[in-house]
Parts: sequence; structure tokens; C-alpha cells
Amino acid sequence: MSDCIFCKVAAGEIPATIVKRNDGFVAFRDANPQAPTHLLVIPTRHIPSLNDAHDPQLLGDLLAFARDLAREAGLATRGYRVVVNTNPDGGQTVFHLHLHLLGGRRMTWPPG
Ligand code: AMP
Ligand code: ZN
Repeated sequence: MSDCIFCKVAAGEIPATIVKRNDGFVAFRDANPQAPTHLLVIPTRHIPSLNDAHDPQLLGDLLAFARDLAREAGLATRGYRVVVNTNPDGGQTVFHLHLHLLGGRRMTWPPG
């Protein structure tokens, strides 16, 4: 997708602070962090939203990637939150599937 900003991040075409990557996934710092640690985890391949993610293996691998990243970031014991905003009511603004990994402070519930 030539006009997708997260495809461009994955391709190194726009700057981002990449913190982890493998063959299928990339993690980078959110430009507008909502917690002391706020990372975005994306599949390298363009998938617009969770609604379009038809491969359960990819979804499982994406979640495991975020879980491993949380441990590596030192968040595992105190805890963290993983969020997938989906479509307008879910608050999605970038239409390339991504997990938000938030940590470093106590999260509140319910979310806004
Ligand atoms: P969402 O609202 O769930 O679609 O989340 C999109 C997130 O992407 C927001 O938290 C933005 O701050 C973040 N964001 C948008 N553009 C960039 C960028 N170029 N680099 C890093 N984060 C970005
Ligand atoms: Zn994309």
C-alpha cells in the first residue's frame, strides 16, 4: 500500500524508532505516547484492520511478538496493556493493523 504510513515505517521510508523486528513484524515507538512505554507492533504485510486479519497463525504470532517485547522492555512483572483499536468506534486512525503495547504506569478501567 503506497499511501500507508505504517507500510512506509516498515520499509524504512519514513523515520521511526524501531525497537524490534523479525521477518513478519516490526515494533516502533508511538509518536504521541500515552504511557511511559508506548510501542506499536505491526505486521510487515499490509492488513487494514483486525476485521481483515484472516490468518489465525499471524494473529497468534503478532500477539506473541508483543508479549516477548513486553518482557524485553521490562514490563512483564508489573504489567502492561495491549490494545487493538478497530474501525471508527474503536478509535482506529491508521488503517494498518497494529497492537498498542502500553506500560510503565497503572492503567485505568474502563478505557475512554
Ligand atoms: P490508532 O488510533 O489505534 O489507529 O493508533 C495510531 C497510532 O499511531 C497513534 O497512537 C499515533 O500516535 C501513532 N502514529 C501515527 N503516525 C505515526 C508515526 N509516523 N510514527 C509513530 N507513530 C505514529
Ligand atoms: Zn500498510
